[in-house]
Amino acid sequence: MADIIKINDNTWRIEDGMVRFYLFTGRKRALLIDTGMTTKNAKEIAESLTALPLSLINTHADRDHTAGNGAFAEIYMSPKEEPLYRNQNGTGMVIPVKEGDVIDLGGRPLRIIDVPGHTPGSIAILDEKNRVLVSGDSVQNGNIYMFGPKRDLNDFIKSMEHLKKYDGQYDEVYAMHGNFPVGPELVGKLCDGARQIRDGLAKGEKINLFGNDVTFYKFDYAGFFGECVD
Ligand SMILES: [Zn+2]
Repeated sequence: MADIIKINDNTWRIEDGMVRFYLFTGRKRALLIDTGMTTKNAKEIAESLTALPLSLINTHADRDHTAGNGAFAEIYMSPKEEPLYRNQNGTGMVIPVKEGDVIDLGGRPLRIIDVPGHTPGSIAILDEKNRVLVSGDSVQNGNIYMFGPKRDLNDFIKSMEHLKKYDGQYDEVYAMHGNFPVGPELVGKLCDGARQIRDGLAKGEKINLFGNDVTFYKFDYAGFFGECVD
């Protein structure tokens, strides 16, 4: 059962076990940001909280973020994420979004920032008025999945460097895993951690994660599940 938590009069977080998603409203429109891992009725939940016209955006298409997508005919998503989404039998028409696009909910402009790495089409969403960054899985203090063919550590590092350009424009990070909220300083820390992994300076532990041999790098601010290295 999803747990609905009101953050303020126009923002909710919906806790779905290991993952969370968000509902943002403006004066004219409402936007659901992801649909969770088990919450097939995410649309119904959103419609119970607002009467405004409702759209859906996905921060990325990993299965733990798209459980309730089937109820939507259209989905804002990076086009770079669509192959992954269709591979998982994702339905609905993709309305492509990219860096610099702004979705205005009515007095609440949301700016799209491309942050590839965790997946090719991962995005973050800057809520400029409320000084909040919705980070998907890319900025969070849980464990970030960075192994397998769709992940790219070098892109992740570049994305963290890119996000640093938005320093000072937000005070809180709303992530989909880990603690809620986390602070903007986590971006720089994740960038450093990912560089240490890339440069072979981080000490990892070989583990088996759901049948995959991976290297687990645990930092005091977050973890990474990286490619298996012997
Ligand atoms: Zn996730």
